[in-house]
Amino acid sequence: MPENTKPAPLAIVSLIYCKCPRCRTGRVFPYSPLNPVKFSKTYDYCPHCKLRFEHETGFFWSAMYISYVFSAGIIIAFGAVAINLDWTFTRIFSIIIPGILILTPFLYRYSRMIVLYLLHPLRHFDRKYL
Ligand SMILES: [Zn+2]
Repeated sequence: MPENTKPAPLAIVSLIYCKCPRCRTGRVFPYSPLNPVKFSKTYDYCPHCKLRFEHETGFFWSAMYISYVFSAGIIIAFGAVAINLDWTFTRIFSIIIPGILILTPFLYRYSRMIVLYLLHPLRHFDRKYL
């Protein structure tokens, strides 16, 4: 084994850092999630191993459902806490709506990353990377 070869990080670590599901080195998103205009830009191919991320048109549409579950979970959890603290609905919504808007880039990205790691066809053809 060559000295400069490092083992690939765990899949969950690569997912958290938004790395390619095959090589776990290349980035999936070229811009920071804090960039309000370009946070949604996704590379077409992995810059390191050239894996095509959106292998068919509409592949990432299922990420919309995951993002919905994230948002609903946050709203339900926060709403339950806020109701137990006897906050008014105006106060609850004035916190939840900006909070979800601020979290949107992260919800968007992690929804896509979960779809990439769970549904990408490389899972069926390339077992050595899993
Ligand atoms: Zn890659």
